Amino acid sequence: LEVLGAPIINHEKEWKGVVLVFHDITELKHLEQMRKDFVANVSHELKTPITSIRGFSETLLQGAMEDEALREQFINIILKESERLQSLIHDLLELSKLEKEGFHLNIESVSLKQLIEDIVPIVEQQAKEKDITMNQNIYEGETIRADSARLKQVVMNMLTNAINYTPQQGEVGIELHSNDNYMEIIIKDTGIGIPEEDIPRIFERFYRVDKARSRNSGGTGLGLAIVKHIVEAHEGWIEVESEYQKGTAFHIYLPKKFTKT
Ligand code: ADP
Repeated sequence: LEVLGAPIINHEKEWKGVVLVFHDITELKHLEQMRKDFVANVSHELKTPITSIRGFSETLLQGAMEDEALREQFINIILKESERLQSLIHDLLELSKLEKEGFHLNIESVSLKQLIEDIVPIVEQQAKEKDITMNQNIYEGETIRADSARLKQVVMNMLTNAINYTPQQGEVGIELHSNDNYMEIIIKDTGIGIPEEDIPRIFERFYRVDKARSRNSGGTGLGLAIVKHIVEAHEGWIEVESEYQKGTAFHIYLPKKFTKT
């Protein structure tokens, strides 16, 4: 709480009282704290791969280069960490674009069926490598007004997550349904699930249930924050159902009558 005070004085310079203004700054403080946490998180996330790239390069220059097996191992680590940095910077720029005021969607007529059918083959290879079965249940439905490139990003992100967080031989499914006023995309998996207490936080920037697991699968911890922004920019919303160790289903709702142009 912030309190500002000022005396009330009339024309005769008599003291008549005092005005007190109470400002509830909890929300402001909270936003300020979130901003600080974000900057701290970004710095930490950038530092980790850089420290590793630098360390392994130095070790190579100090003689590890002579050992063929070590050389290959270290260079592979450097490559992996550089790729990590690249995805991190890419996702950070995306997020910053989406959070900018006046962020613009390229609205056109989009067939969600077509959009899903374009994306599935791209992730199918990843699924195959883990022996994961991909199921599709796609209702033709009507076209909606939407930003096709942005929605592709959403579907791609959700399917990649579903594959990443599902063990070998599991199943990943994508469905498209048409409801009264909105289209519904469901992405579900038979994966590791999300503990109930973590569900409300997974859309926060950099929030991960298991940091190591997310890192190993190439995750940046920004994917769902990006997805949420895009869906909400379309006046839609996302719901999550998950059972720990059993699987997860994300439901994305997109209005058929999108009012913005
Ligand atoms: P990441 O790059 O870590 O995958 P996201 O923002 O995409 O970041 O997701 C945030 C966190 O939500 C993940 O780290 C993971 O813990 C959890 N998560 C997302 N999708 C799934 C899923 N399909 N199954 C289980 N956990 C998931």
